[in-house]
Amino acid sequence: MQKVPHVVILGGGFGGLSSANELRNSLPAEKLAITLIDKKDWFMVGFAKLWIMNGTRKFEDSVGSLNNLSKKGINFVKDEVLSIDLENKTITTSTKKISYDFLIISTGSVLAPEKIPGLVENGFNLYDHNQLSEINQRLNDMESGKIAISIMGMPYKCPPAPFEASLLINSMLKKRGVRENVEIHFYSPAPTTLPAAGPQVSKQIFDLVNSEKIIFHDSCKIKSVESKKLIFENDREESFDLLLAVPPHVAPKIIYDSGLAKEPGFILINRDCKTSYDNVFAIGDVTSMVVYESMAMPKAGVFAEGEGIAVAKNIISMIQSKEEFVLYDGKGGCFIESGKDTASVIEVDMFSNPKPSTTLTEQTHENLIKKVDFEKERLSNWL
Ligand SMILES: Cc1cc2nc3c(=O)[nH]c(=O)nc-3n(C[C@H](O)[C@H](O)[C@H](O)COP(=O)(O)OP(=O)(O)OC[C@H]3O[C@@H](n4cnc5c(N)ncnc54)[C@H](O)[C@@H]3O)c2cc1C
Repeated sequence: MQKVPHVVILGGGFGGLSSANELRNSLPAEKLAITLIDKKDWFMVGFAKLWIMNGTRKFEDSVGSLNNLSKKGINFVKDEVLSIDLENKTITTSTKKISYDFLIISTGSVLAPEKIPGLVENGFNLYDHNQLSEINQRLNDMESGKIAISIMGMPYKCPPAPFEASLLINSMLKKRGVRENVEIHFYSPAPTTLPAAGPQVSKQIFDLVNSEKIIFHDSCKIKSVESKKLIFENDREESFDLLLAVPPHVAPKIIYDSGLAKEPGFILINRDCKTSYDNVFAIGDVTSMVVYESMAMPKAGVFAEGEGIAVAKNIISMIQSKEEFVLYDGKGGCFIESGKDTASVIEVDMFSNPKPSTTLTEQTHENLIKKVDFEKERLSNWL
C-alpha cells in the first residue's frame, strides 16, 4: 500500500486547530495523515479567560476537548514535545518519536513571569488560567485600594486584552458600588495604548479607558516588583494593593533548542510562513512577521488562524503538485468588550497599501453577540 503524506502539527491552539481542520476538510484520511500534538487535551478561546476573571464563566464551560479530533480522522497525541529534529524530520515527545513529511509549528508563546524579579511572589499573572479564580475572588473582596494592571514585556498576546480587562474590572467594581474607593492604574512600556493599531485607534482606546477613570501610564518599563510596589527602569515607584500583570512572552524552549529562533525572540517568518527548512512552516504566536517598517504582526488568535489556513492550503497544493500558492492576507478583527454589555471591534488589514490600516467600530450589543458567536463557531467547527 502506498504511504500517504504525513503532516505533523505542534500545538492545538488557534493556529494548530485551524490548519488541522483545513487540511482534513480538503483531503480525506486515505490521502493525508494528520497528527496534532499538544501537552494538554483542551482548547480555550483566549478571551474566555476574562470572563472567568469577572466571574461570568467557569473554566469547564469554556473549553473544547482535543480528543474530539480523532472523530475527524485527525490523530491527537497528548504529550509534551521535547525536541524537533529538523534534519531527520522527527519529533520526540516524552513517550515516542514521530516522523513527518510536513511540519507545522504552532506552539504559541510561553508566559515568563519569572523574568521579572519579585513578580511571582507579589502579583498575579492575568493570562494564566490557573490564577483567574483567585483573581476573581480578590476583585470581589476588594472594598478600596489600588489595582495595577501592568504590561511587563512586548510583544504580548492580544494587545487590547489588558484594556478590556480593565474595563471589565471597572464594571465589576461599579456593580458592587465600590468603584469610587478603588483606583485602577494601567502601566505600559509602550508610548501609546496600542502602538500596532496606529495613533488614531490608540487615542480612541485611551479616551475609552480614561472616560472610566482608568489611569493610563505610558512608557513604564518594569524593572522589578516588591511587596505592594512596582519599580520601573527609571526608578519611578508606584504602589498597588492588587497587581494583575501581563508577563513577558518568550518562545517555548524546544524552539530555541532546535535553532529556529534566538532567545528571547520568535521564529522569523514572511507571509508564506516558511522556515528555512523544506516543508517546515511556523504560524501564530511562536512567530514574528514584520509587516511594515519595524512593526510586527500582533500576537492574536485571528492571525494564527489565518496563517494556519494559508499554510494548510499550500501543503495541499504541494501534495497535489499544483502551482497555486497563497500568501497570508493579514486581515482580522479583535473584540474589545466595554463592560456595559457592548463591544467594539478593532478591524485590521496588516498588508493594506501603503501601510497597515486599523479601525475601531462603534460599541454595540450586536458586537458582543458576535464575540460570543466567534467563540461558539471555533469550538464547534474545530472540535
Ligand atoms: C486574555 C486573552 C484574551 C485574548 N483575546 C483575543 C481576541 O479577542 N482575539 C484574538 O484573536 N486573540 C485573542 N487572544 C490571543 C490568542 O489567544 C492567542 O494569540 C492565540 O491563542 C495564539 O494561537 P497559537 O496557535 O499561536 O498558540 P496557542 O493558542 O497558545 O496554542 C499553542 C499550543 O501549543 C501547545 N504547546 C506549546 N509547547 C508545547 C510542547 N512543548 N509540547 C506540546 N504542546 C505544546 C500549548 O499547550 C498550546 O495548546 C487573547 C489571549 C488572552 C490571554
